[in-house]
Amino acid sequence: MSKLGTNVREAAKILTEGGLVAIPTETVYGLAANAFNEAAITKVFQVKNRPSFDPLITHVANKNELNNLAKNIPPDAQKLMDVFWPGPLTIVLPKTERISDLITSGLPSAAFRVPNHPIALKLLRALDFPLVAPSANPFTYVSPTTAQHVEQQLGEKVDYILDGGPCQVGLESTIISFTGNLPKVLRLGGLSIEEIEKEIGSVSVQTHSSSRPEAPGMLINHYSPGIPLVIGEIDKLLKENKGKKVGIISYKKAFPDYINTVLAPSENMAEAAKNLFKALRWMDDQKVEIIVTEWVPNEGLGRAINDRLKRAASN
Ligand code: AMP
Ligand code: MG
Repeated sequence: MSKLGTNVREAAKILTEGGLVAIPTETVYGLAANAFNEAAITKVFQVKNRPSFDPLITHVANKNELNNLAKNIPPDAQKLMDVFWPGPLTIVLPKTERISDLITSGLPSAAFRVPNHPIALKLLRALDFPLVAPSANPFTYVSPTTAQHVEQQLGEKVDYILDGGPCQVGLESTIISFTGNLPKVLRLGGLSIEEIEKEIGSVSVQTHSSSRPEAPGMLINHYSPGIPLVIGEIDKLLKENKGKKVGIISYKKAFPDYINTVLAPSENMAEAAKNLFKALRWMDDQKVEIIVTEWVPNEGLGRAINDRLKRAASN
């Protein structure tokens, strides 16, 4: 049987037996394992080459499942679940003992999300356990937004890849923590801060990195395409890099004389988000020496896009 397919029953069987399945979500593809099976959780870290201090997000079919997994859920967190789940928002809450310390890297809190993808939801509903599912890429590399991306990078190491087509959001989930007195955004992502603030008022954003970050997905060199990347005014950067094999990732404008991919031909920020990781991978395939790119307007999803560009540039 091919490793790549659309058989939810097969995926459920493999997960029940402790195997690893790559799953589609609206954000990026996840590398899923039974959240109640410590051997399976350990395999996720090994396959991704992910350091054990980088905790995993637990995916559930609906918010009622949190009854046994999280505690002290504040009304604002409840509200966000009601409004945005299923969707690209991960909520960090104090955990119960049902959540293994392996998942949380020893933290007393755990991260939860209900993904908004029909196949992921169908799978979660078919299982009697939640799924841990970090992005299905080797640690620090660009997250996969198609089943083929997963196959190229982790093909031999996963037991099955559930193909749900290209991810509709294309950026990882926004992470918000409710473990302190005030809600704190730990990662910018597929749900904008503006949307969150409309529901619960202003939130602080703390996405800086350190050696033991609260949200290690925010380590500065995350999302790296493995090629130097510079951000600024494209024409100027082209002059500075004359003679090199340059690739341009532009926001709206096309550069037909160059190796170029445009993030948002229809000038829509959601489209840019959806195309970003695909663009970084494509540049990798073009074997360019340097990627020249530009900031997008720093609002809505644009903040998360700029955040990923900044991290991709930091190598
Ligand atoms: P990924 O699954 O690769 O998108 O990464 C998931 C991210 O969720 C990790 O990088 C962590 O930063 C974050 N995360 C998971 N659990 C927690 C937690 N208990 N507290 C804070 N952040 C968390
Ligand atoms: Mg990741």
